Amino acid sequence: MQLIESIAAIATPHGSGGVAVIRISGTQAISCAEQFFEPVRGKHPLKMEGYTCSYGYFVNQEHEILDDVVLTVFRNPHSYTGEDVVEISCHGGRFLSQKILRTILTCPDVRLAEAGEFTKRAFLNGKLSLTQAEAVADLISASGENAVKYARTLRDGATFRKISAFSQTILEILSDLAVWADYPDEDIPGVDADTLEVKMQQLLSEMRRLMASYDYGKILREGLHTVIVGKPNVGKSTLFNVLSGCERSIVTEIAGTTRDVVEEQIRLGDVILRLSDTAGVHETADKVEQIGVERSLSSVEQADLILAVFDMSVPLSEEDKILLEKLPENKTIIVYNKSDKSNPEFHQKPLFHFSPVETVEISARNQNNILELQNAVERFAVRHATPAEDGMIANERQRVCLENALSAVQEALDALSVGLAFDAVTVSLDAAADALLQLTGERVTDKVVDTVFSRFCVGK
Ligand code: GDP
Repeated sequence: MQLIESIAAIATPHGSGGVAVIRISGTQAISCAEQFFEPVRGKHPLKMEGYTCSYGYFVNQEHEILDDVVLTVFRNPHSYTGEDVVEISCHGGRFLSQKILRTILTCPDVRLAEAGEFTKRAFLNGKLSLTQAEAVADLISASGENAVKYARTLRDGATFRKISAFSQTILEILSDLAVWADYPDEDIPGVDADTLEVKMQQLLSEMRRLMASYDYGKILREGLHTVIVGKPNVGKSTLFNVLSGCERSIVTEIAGTTRDVVEEQIRLGDVILRLSDTAGVHETADKVEQIGVERSLSSVEQADLILAVFDMSVPLSEEDKILLEKLPENKTIIVYNKSDKSNPEFHQKPLFHFSPVETVEISARNQNNILELQNAVERFAVRHATPAEDGMIANERQRVCLENALSAVQEALDALSVGLAFDAVTVSLDAAADALLQLTGERVTDKVVDTVFSRFCVGK
């Protein structure tokens, strides 16, 4: 599809840098560049082939030189957007790149691009699926090696291929159903209720596996939601401050001073931690603290990782036991704090048969063994945030589509097993196929497309 208006924008980040790139896309891109480019070495833009560049002067309407630039031409459909694209690399700096952009925008039918419009055109011209386009946004904001790997997996179309395979399976089942409906008395191999049920079960389990990848992606994009819990005065705030490297929580000798949940985003190696320091978990009569305690317990449910802190300077108590009962073993790291004042009785009590992910002894106040704790957290994060090579669910939009597809297949399976008419099974499978097409963007409303691309920055 060719769009009438061409678009232009600065593609590099604002601020000073060695080079800035201005990008033009659309049918007028090359003729517009032709007006303002005087080649020194290389050809005029109109004569340039795709994937070639020329060195020369970028001039304004009065033919004054603005800068010496390298101009690259991409001819449709072999460009990022699928349209004719010109990229002008000029010397860095906002002033110069803005001046060049303003000159380009004097060309008729060339306007400033909206946020994400280059990628939107790539999507509309069939260069990218919606999941790939979303990955471009993730790639731009990716922090950390794993996050980049993850965004690349999506960018390379792994999710699209995976979803297409699901759609293909649904189509096969639908056609089997049609055959079966048309020739109910024929004994056609592979076309019977049992075989169809097996196929649908397999499809469901694969879809569920893909759904599980959502949590990994979430950790990579948003960081590991981590909460520090423990009785009052065990050293939670001190630990929080040590990990976040700043004095955010109030640390006092009086039990129960951390009243609310404070959140901090910190980087541990390749992992982003979204660290919450919560009120102490214990029975309390204090109204203000009561709210804090409730929040702390609800944040335990939502957390990806829990750092459960115990005070080694005193023996373990019933309260510690109550806390442990509320924690999931598979996402809890036990932190024994105050190792500098370790009580001889402390170790004599077993941890009530609780098997955490890891156990680390530290002194938060003296910053002893903090590195060991950081390593334990990193090990946990790496285990939970390894990009799945065969596709991932990257965001809430995709998750909802897959969820809809999953329940529709489940409905089809239920209808088949209770012996409902083919129609009921077919309707549900159609709905599943539709949800998958929405996921990849093959059947999607303009509103959804606009929402996806509004997350982008201008120039991408
Ligand atoms: P919270 O109520 O669990 O947040 O505990 P705080 O962080 O407020 O700490 C309570 C008290 O324990 C403070 O006086 C801290 O200085 C002290 N504390 C924290 N960590 C250590 C430690 O590793 N060793 C010792 N000896 N005291 C600590």
